[in-house]
Amino acid sequence: MSENVHQRAQQLFAQSMVEGLSAGDQAWLDDHLRDCGACASEIATTNSLLRALRNVPVAVPRDLAVRTQMRVKLRAQEAARTSGSGALLWVMTAASWLLGILSAPFVWRIFTWVGGTLNLPKPLLQVGFVLWWTVPALIAVAAVLYQRGLSSTAGVSNTKAR
Ligand SMILES: [Zn+2]
Repeated sequence: MSENVHQRAQQLFAQSMVEGLSAGDQAWLDDHLRDCGACASEIATTNSLLRALRNVPVAVPRDLAVRTQMRVKLRAQEAARTSGSGALLWVMTAASWLLGILSAPFVWRIFTWVGGTLNLPKPLLQVGFVLWWTVPALIAVAAVLYQRGLSSTAGVSNTKAR
């Protein structure tokens, strides 16, 4: 068998993880895997790796989404009582968290697909995924804390002026 045939098998497998295959491609892939032990075992290894990776991070956000929503709601109510601009910031923070949480399974699929295609080591994928997911939330939290610092300073000077 030529080199291209095995490459095509790996490529179709990667594609099947993300968007699925046409019936023809799937049949071709099944045929090839039946005849080619090398591809079959490589794909079995990748498959078990992906399953192990997928079970961990995607299981977490479901519950987290609900808890974050609750917390953000409480905070938004609290902030609305104290200052108007604070509430807006919390809404923005909430949006960025929810976006991150809701898109996590998609992003993870892309990461595993890219990782499988490029043969990246598992720890690198995990670090990349965690960074992608947490950095925007951390920036949002920092913005809120910074804004709070500003508004508490402003509050003090207002009281003094009165
Ligand atoms: Zn093959």
